[in-house]
Amino acid sequence: MSRRFGFLTSILLSLFLFVTLTADEGMYPLSEISRLDLESKGLEIPVSEIYNPDGVSLVDAICQVGGGTGEFVSPDGLILTNHHIAYAGVVAASTPERDYLREGFTAASRAEEIPAEGYICRITEDYRDVSEDVLSVVTDEMTPAERSDAIREKMKAIAEAEEAGRENISCEVSEMFPGKSYVLFTYRIIRDVRLVYVPPLSVGNYGGEIDNWIWPRHTGDFSFMRAYTAPDGSTAAYSEDNVPFKPKRYIKVAPEGVSEGDFVFILGYPGRTYRHKTSDYIALYERTILPYLSDRYDYMIETLEEASKEDRALQLEFANMIKGLANATKNYKGKIQGLRRLDLAEKRRAEEAQLQQFIENDGKLNESYGNTLEELRGVYRDYEASSLQEIIVTLLGRNGYYNLFNSILSTMEKGDLNAEREQRLEEVIARQYEAMTPAVEQDFLATLIWDFHTLSKERQPDVIATLIGGHGDDRGEALDAIHAAFKESALSSPEGVTRIAKQDLDAIRASKDPFIELALELRELNKEIIERRRTRDGELKRLEAAYIDAKMAWQKKDFIPDANSTLRLTYGYIRGYAPADATYYSPQTSLKGVIEKNTGERPFDAPDQLVELYNTGNYDTSLEDELLGDIPVGMLYNMDTTGGNSGSPVLNARGELVGVNFDRAFEATVNDYQWSEEYSRSIGVDIRYVLFIAKHLGRADFLLDELGVN
Ligand code: ASP
Repeated sequence: MSRRFGFLTSILLSLFLFVTLTADEGMYPLSEISRLDLESKGLEIPVSEIYNPDGVSLVDAICQVGGGTGEFVSPDGLILTNHHIAYAGVVAASTPERDYLREGFTAASRAEEIPAEGYICRITEDYRDVSEDVLSVVTDEMTPAERSDAIREKMKAIAEAEEAGRENISCEVSEMFPGKSYVLFTYRIIRDVRLVYVPPLSVGNYGGEIDNWIWPRHTGDFSFMRAYTAPDGSTAAYSEDNVPFKPKRYIKVAPEGVSEGDFVFILGYPGRTYRHKTSDYIALYERTILPYLSDRYDYMIETLEEASKEDRALQLEFANMIKGLANATKNYKGKIQGLRRLDLAEKRRAEEAQLQQFIENDGKLNESYGNTLEELRGVYRDYEASSLQEIIVTLLGRNGYYNLFNSILSTMEKGDLNAEREQRLEEVIARQYEAMTPAVEQDFLATLIWDFHTLSKERQPDVIATLIGGHGDDRGEALDAIHAAFKESALSSPEGVTRIAKQDLDAIRASKDPFIELALELRELNKEIIERRRTRDGELKRLEAAYIDAKMAWQKKDFIPDANSTLRLTYGYIRGYAPADATYYSPQTSLKGVIEKNTGERPFDAPDQLVELYNTGNYDTSLEDELLGDIPVGMLYNMDTTGGNSGSPVLNARGELVGVNFDRAFEATVNDYQWSEEYSRSIGVDIRYVLFIAKHLGRADFLLDELGVN
């Protein structure tokens, strides 16, 4: 093993390459790929190999799974994706005694593969522009709320008509530009997805939240799953008789990996971006929504960790939620920092002023778009005033107590609470209460009540003043008082709720229990908010469509639609970056770095076996990178990705798999609002580390055989 030369070579190479090649912003829909001229950017295969509407191509090997992306890497439905994408399935299969999350999991034979509970897999089969059809239902006389409903209903109707009577197929109309363009996607569905190989947490999530959204990175964030169908190839839920799915196409793994400067591309399902939003939207998120959510999520994590610190079963129960919250809160912090540094809201405002000038200089444009920006501003001004109220109502609606109580009230309102259901009610309530962790639910409840109190009076339910009492200036005292009052509430015990549920609606409405009063007020408020959102959505559909039209006329170009969980391609190069003054990061990490970070304490607790492999050098050295002289671990590139791209294949110029995308650098979280060559960097795990771990740690040689690389 030689571990020299790497760093200097990478700096020199990166300087050279930086001046020669640049990538572009862009998560390109399939319809746009052919106009990209990818060959001139470095692609060595025909573009029809990537996407071919008349035949089989790489896109047939890509699936949407577990909120992210996966790729078929064998003819037998083997899926490679991220550890954090398989995470919920691993957690569901784990118990304190059989802790696959902590220890990892290897299915030595197909019979040992375990169902990943709740996972389905979608493969894009076809797409078609249906904008005209969708927008045909809109008339000038409609109110904004009616417009929003009409479009939504039409989207649903088109999808349902396309799906009707077809097996294994699900259809969905996706909004590409609000109020402007719509595409009908046809997906093939697979309902039986199983776990095949999952590395231990100390590899799959090495560095935990400390390293999340951070480069340099040393996480082996990958897992293998497998898709199954019924023996006749049709979609079926889990059954022992099912057989591995035969994808139309699978991706070949390239164990030789990549080097700095190499051309790469990604196919995947990026979730959401907001590149076409105006300055007021950006300001609202930067100043109000992201800081609030980030604070609340931090608090929730603390509460969940505290409540489960002595109880592994509870830790497993909360694991998924904590991971999701932690991922989001750090992402939001990155975004806030990025938005401030870029001063993006101000920049957009200046751009909008220029656009307004351009519009006003042209009589015809002025007639159509003269008021567009001002009207958009008005919509966001209203939204700003009510945004926190809307978020608090949503979060309270998810609270265990209110969730249950609301569903009881809804059933009663519908008059559905017949004698038989009434009998079962007691049982249902008791079960739900047993499933709750009271300390956690009560903490969230009290905190959100306090948050309500911090809003202006007209945004609060009336009963908030009663609940806060004389403690309006002291959060700690107020929370104590709320906790004490809750003990007296009917909602605090299953017996209390059962008693309430057996009364009639009028009696419930007359209740003097402040927590019940709050529940009732929240229901009314929620109805108001739903109305408000319908109106806002309808207004935005009209105004944002006009805004995009005006901007296209101004900049004389077509735009790429924001990410919306539909299949996209992005391309770029393996490339380092300089996130701060006097700081340059090269784009590959290696096993040496895993060992350097190892403290033996979570989350930097590399498995002993891994440390030993490193120390003895007793492993398959063909997986080493020649320049690094070591096993490569992480890779960095300037491709345009976002959440949902997790698990996407990183493909080389020949369309072979060289890595699995799983994250972005901290500075690149703001990418969702604005891409830049300077800071937009995404992170993947090198395929050679995947093979190294599966082979030496997981003893899963059978997997390498299946991948055709042994
Ligand atoms: N790690 C990310 C996620 O959890 C992927 C990304 O957003 O780049 O969504």
